[in-house]
Amino acid sequence: MEQLYHAVRQIFSGMRTISSNAKYVVICFGVVLVHFHFTIAFAICGIMPLCWYNVFITLFYLYHCFVSLRKKQYGFIYISSVIEILFHSCAASILLGWDWGFMLYTIALVPVSFYLSYTMKNRLRNIGMPILTSVIVTVCYMVMLAVSSKVPPIFAQYNNARAASYFYYFNTMVAFVMLFLFSILFSLEIRYMQKRLEQENSELEEIARFDPLTHLLNRRSMHDELHRAMHAAGKGQETFCLIMTDIDDFKKINDTYGHDCGDEVLVTIANIISGNVRENDAVCRWGGEEMLILIRTDEEMAVRVAERIRREIAARRGWYKDTKFIVTVTLGVATYKDGTNIRALIEQADKNLYKGKNNGKNQVVY
Ligand code: GH3
Ligand code: MG
Ligand code: MG
Repeated sequence: MEQLYHAVRQIFSGMRTISSNAKYVVICFGVVLVHFHFTIAFAICGIMPLCWYNVFITLFYLYHCFVSLRKKQYGFIYISSVIEILFHSCAASILLGWDWGFMLYTIALVPVSFYLSYTMKNRLRNIGMPILTSVIVTVCYMVMLAVSSKVPPIFAQYNNARAASYFYYFNTMVAFVMLFLFSILFSLEIRYMQKRLEQENSELEEIARFDPLTHLLNRRSMHDELHRAMHAAGKGQETFCLIMTDIDDFKKINDTYGHDCGDEVLVTIANIISGNVRENDAVCRWGGEEMLILIRTDEEMAVRVAERIRREIAARRGWYKDTKFIVTVTLGVATYKDGTNIRALIEQADKNLYKGKNNGKNQVVY
């Protein structure tokens, strides 16, 4: 019971969709109930031809319930139901007359056929199918309206005002239930789709913004961060520095321990860097084994952070599985000054980094 409640809650919040089988079980058993009711009601009114017809149709829908559903023949259920409902409505209207309300089902068939074709997986999903059904339904409705106003009912001998009134109320109610049910199903379907799109969008955004290996920002989104920092600094709201980081002799690590080990080293270094900066700073994978840090502080603090990162990396021994080795990084710091542009600032950080490389690596240059 609790599971069912949980499933219904998830469906209403758009987190889960209703399975095709569940939908068709409800539809098939619902139609069986309606036709079984007609069988009894026509028998009570003594309209035996329609009673026997409904016995046959009830059995036909029971076949759907116990055979077609198991074989997942949803297309067959869909098409046969639409044809049967249309036929039953027209036949009952010609035989009994317009004021028994059987043609109301044809109006409800319009959203039903759109919904059912929408839930199909194969070519029945084509929008042409429900459009064609709706046109046929409309034509049938108009023809029946014209015929009933000119020609008296064939079963005039069964005419009974109380029975007609009962059927009119019953048919109106069922037609409204159909309209209500299929409108709800449509809106739940839309809600589910919307939720799924939102989720897929955020996954795509993640792919577009972040480097898949290290989960640091990628170069493109770092440019946005740089422009934002530049803009704020230009207005005198904050100052910032760039730290260009490059792993020393990384090629050797790859060559000695393998590419997987190199990847693991990159991820660990990315984590160490991220752990040493604040939330509003930004770290990106600038190139293969180069990482760029945008740190929203003055030069003194930036150098201190760079030094802390360098020391933490140099002190670590366990990088990959059981092997122990040393990894070092060289870092070049550049400080934003009025009038500097992004490119010049990055070049400055790069220049300092290469000074460090030429000076023996494993150091911070500013
Ligand atoms: P230096 O100290 O001068 O920086 O030397 P280096 O060996 O680190 O620099 P070099 O530019 O010669 O080599 C960088 C290496 O980084 C080469 C490339 O195969 C490796 N690399 C780049 N991206 C990745 C990656 O995603 N994973 C792994 N495992 N290696 C990478
Ligand atoms: Mg490099
Ligand atoms: Mg390197």
